[in-house]
Amino acid sequence: MKLLVIPVLYHEYLHYTGIKNESEVWLRENLFLRNLISEYSKKHENLLEYHLSVISEFEKISDFGTLFLLSFSPKSIEFYSNLNHIIQQLYGNTLAENEALKYAQEQILQNDLITELMNLKLIWHPEVRYPLLREPNSLIERHAIEKIVIEHKTEDNFMSRNDFYRILKESEISDWINSWNNYQTQVKDCINKTENYMFVYDQLKEYFINRI
Ligand SMILES: [Zn+2]
Repeated sequence: MKLLVIPVLYHEYLHYTGIKNESEVWLRENLFLRNLISEYSKKHENLLEYHLSVISEFEKISDFGTLFLLSFSPKSIEFYSNLNHIIQQLYGNTLAENEALKYAQEQILQNDLITELMNLKLIWHPEVRYPLLREPNSLIERHAIEKIVIEHKTEDNFMSRNDFYRILKESEISDWINSWNNYQTQVKDCINKTENYMFVYDQLKEYFINRI
């Protein structure tokens, strides 16, 4: 559970420190998670069991994106390009300010449609209804939402290769990567040495050798 919660808090903390670029935050969060997985492994006697439990924690919540990213070596170009690809899928392309305003207005109209449907279903007190964002009384809220959406959609969330490698060279991050690489080596050693033990996990074996 800690592995699922702490990185999310770290993600939000990074935004709080002023980093808006999602690729950078995702990169730092992913490397932070790798270090966390490696550190927690030291408390477990059975490394293989621990490794499986890590995978299953992410599978339980269907976070295959994280498992997918963990399957790449931190310094590889595949990790860099897949990270940017996921960011593009999740956050979309960077928009110009007028496009972002149009997008925000469309979102507000869509939201109003849902609110209108909800109002139709309200029977407990028919004269009480949820307010619509397009109504004059909602002007402050509408402008606040537009401002947040514009800020979000005009942000450049992609990362250059130079920035990627610059971040990897930071001393703390370098330590995290080393710690992850050691962990990976130990897990692979364990898999090689425990063939008999592996019958339980036969079906998973190939999976986690190839994954993280
Ligand atoms: Zn974020």
